[in-house]
Amino acid sequence: MAAIEMSHIVKRYGDGFPAVNDVSLDIADGEFMILVGPSGCGKSTLLRMIVGLEDITSGDMVIGGTRVNDKAPRDRNLSMVFQNYALYPHLSVYENIAFPLRLAKVPDEEVRRKVEESANILELHEHLQRKPANLSGGQRQRVAMGRAIVRQADAFLFDEPLSNLDAKLRGQMRAEIARLQRRLGITTVYVTHDQTEAMTLGDRVCVLKKGIIQQVASPRELYEQPANLFVAGFIGSPPMNFLPASASGGKLDTPFGSIQLDETRASKVGDRDLVLVGVRPEMFEDASLVDEALLDKGARFTAQVDVTEWLGDSQYAYIPYESSPEAAAKLKELAQELDGDQLRTQAIVSIDSTSRIREGNEAEFWFDTRKIHVFDPQSGENLT
Ligand code: ATP
Repeated sequence: MAAIEMSHIVKRYGDGFPAVNDVSLDIADGEFMILVGPSGCGKSTLLRMIVGLEDITSGDMVIGGTRVNDKAPRDRNLSMVFQNYALYPHLSVYENIAFPLRLAKVPDEEVRRKVEESANILELHEHLQRKPANLSGGQRQRVAMGRAIVRQADAFLFDEPLSNLDAKLRGQMRAEIARLQRRLGITTVYVTHDQTEAMTLGDRVCVLKKGIIQQVASPRELYEQPANLFVAGFIGSPPMNFLPASASGGKLDTPFGSIQLDETRASKVGDRDLVLVGVRPEMFEDASLVDEALLDKGARFTAQVDVTEWLGDSQYAYIPYESSPEAAAKLKELAQELDGDQLRTQAIVSIDSTSRIREGNEAEFWFDTRKIHVFDPQSGENLT
């Protein structure tokens, strides 16, 4: 096993814009690290530089204490699991797992011992004589991991391994990968664009945008304390609402009424013409369902409900709002820097399934003002 240390890693393809731009990231021995971000953010490129499939333009890549920039992939002792698992269809499960040992000319007896050991760990011993075509997606994934285990690789690298599977199998496989990784304790780097995978699998998650790290933190910290607008909007489903507001003397004037910040947060925010107030859908509730004791810990407002969606355990309500003319003008000015999510003019709120709020009607809502975030719309920074 090994720690992976990246320092000021840059990757340029040709003379273009850097696909990976000054990334410094330390992955601890045995840690499960997720690289997540939208298409084109550079996560696959970063993974391929770790494994040695892509040259590093500048910076240092250190694995297990050794600088590997100039080492060939086969000399890095890492194991990459691809989307299609790269199994040999004509070989049995046994021979697929044994493959790296055969290449290394390991004696038969040792091959047998190692394959059986890893098949036991992966619960594949009953399937050793089958061909990959006769296995489920989950079993194929385990064979691919078995191949990595027999080699005693220092780290597992996964590039979107579940993106070809249907939603149900994806859920099962996610749980299986998490369980195996914990059991084996092997350093793992896992690339995905799926925030659910990122939030459920990783010890820590590295969020990338345009080749630049936005935040590296535990899933919980990303959710509760996003560093900026991008992370706040990317993590969480449905996404966080960003309400335009002005800030003055600790008071935020939002389309859903005014909010008083506590002293610490008021001093961090200061006075500003325009901020974006981040409120997650799940921080809202139908005001008539909120405990008396909680009501004054939040803000109440009345709004017209456009659409509701009933989900069984909760329901979503869509509430259109209007920005003040000053905020609207400023947002228009900043439109280049903001993306669509931050320019929405309706809030999505998640309320209890027992709520009698109906679409087309006015209703009173409540939201927990202790958990809001305040962002600078220009830099995107979380000010609170
Ligand atoms: P996706 O989820 O779509 O795979 P990604 O986050 O993994 O995206 P990369 O594949 O790492 O992103 O690509 C990062 C950037 O580098 C993109 O702008 C992409 O077009 C560019 N890029 C990737 N590979 C090459 C290449 N071989 N030659 C030139 N540009 C490339």
